[in-house]
Amino acid sequence: MGTFCSVVKFENLQELKRLCHWGPIIALGVIAICSTMAMIDSVLWYWPLHTTGGSVNFIMLINWTVMILYNYFNAMFVGPGFVPLGWKPENSQDSVYLQYCKVCQAYKAPRSHHCRKCNRCVMKMDHHCPWINNCCGYQNHASFTLFLLLAPLGSIHAAFIFVMTMYTQLYNRLSFGWNTVKIDMSAARRDPLPIIPFGLAAFAATLFALGLALGTTIAVGMLFFIQMKIILRNKTSIESWIEEKAKDRIQYYQLDEVFVFPYDMGSRWKNFKQVFTWSGVPEGDGLDWPIREGCHQYSLTIEQLKQKADKRVRSVRYKVIEDYSGTCCPLNRGIKTFFTSPCTEEPRIRLQKGEFILATRGLRYWLYGDKILDDSILEGVSRIRGWFPRNCVEKCPCDAETDQAPEGEKKNR
Ligand SMILES: [Zn+2]
Ligand SMILES: [Zn+2]
Repeated sequence: MGTFCSVVKFENLQELKRLCHWGPIIALGVIAICSTMAMIDSVLWYWPLHTTGGSVNFIMLINWTVMILYNYFNAMFVGPGFVPLGWKPENSQDSVYLQYCKVCQAYKAPRSHHCRKCNRCVMKMDHHCPWINNCCGYQNHASFTLFLLLAPLGSIHAAFIFVMTMYTQLYNRLSFGWNTVKIDMSAARRDPLPIIPFGLAAFAATLFALGLALGTTIAVGMLFFIQMKIILRNKTSIESWIEEKAKDRIQYYQLDEVFVFPYDMGSRWKNFKQVFTWSGVPEGDGLDWPIREGCHQYSLTIEQLKQKADKRVRSVRYKVIEDYSGTCCPLNRGIKTFFTSPCTEEPRIRLQKGEFILATRGLRYWLYGDKILDDSILEGVSRIRGWFPRNCVEKCPCDAETDQAPEGEKKNR
């Protein structure tokens, strides 16, 4: 038992637990069904052993599966990288610029955020992804994005195989009695007879797999473009929200500052290289980040502190202008809202025209916040919290009671 424990560390077993969750179970199920069906259908449609085309097709298929699984497990088990428990900045004076996490008993390093699901502060946190049952952040950003690229590519290949198999198989049936097979796939001609008969069950399974493959291509492909935008701008979803609030704060108080996002190196290539490297290990250590010229090392964390101090005076208040049923991917709120539905287990909230919401964070087409049920919202009672589409609400004009001198307000906090 002792040896067993020394080989299989407790943390490793903890990591395996990540598989026991609906996200990985569904994701791996889809991968298994699509790859298996694509391989079976390839044998039917394009026998791999005697033709170059057939061999290339089959090898590519195996290649997709291996690469998809490799990146998927990497994203899941390597994880985003956590800020060490008890972490302090090297120069202790710098801690005034940072927020403190009571759970991790550590300062929140620049770009890190505490994830309630992982229960740790995550380096360069983007979001907690239920499909990998882990956060997407500093260390696994590249493997996560590669997975998002490879899965649709593999699915397109598989979808092509499914369509060709069904077409050739059905065509062979339909043209039964004629000797000339009009679509000449050479290898598709069944001579000798197929090893696996293409019956009704095989047809149904192929059709089902085709649906999965097409769904994956669209849904995962969208996520890939979102992640690429994040990488090329070097700005995570959380940071986009901080930036939006910064601009809002400056505009509200009519301050004489300009907020410059400090981590965008100004060149897409430089931003890209920070995440994708030949060694597979991203640049840096996840705690110190290269910054744009003219920015302070702690520009963003200082902005976060200002926003935190400002929160009670002025959260972004929205008025509901259209009803929303609380469904995950609403069909009636526009295609962009539908496809960019936040990839998280956090709830959606039902909205009714005329209600008010305090938004605490947001994405381009979605917002997250508390419904204002009565005046007790500020005391933290009567809360309904969750996501809702941005186009169901409109920003309230600045409230009269908070229209005070910004300096005075800030000193009070
Ligand atoms: Zn923490
Ligand atoms: Zn997490």
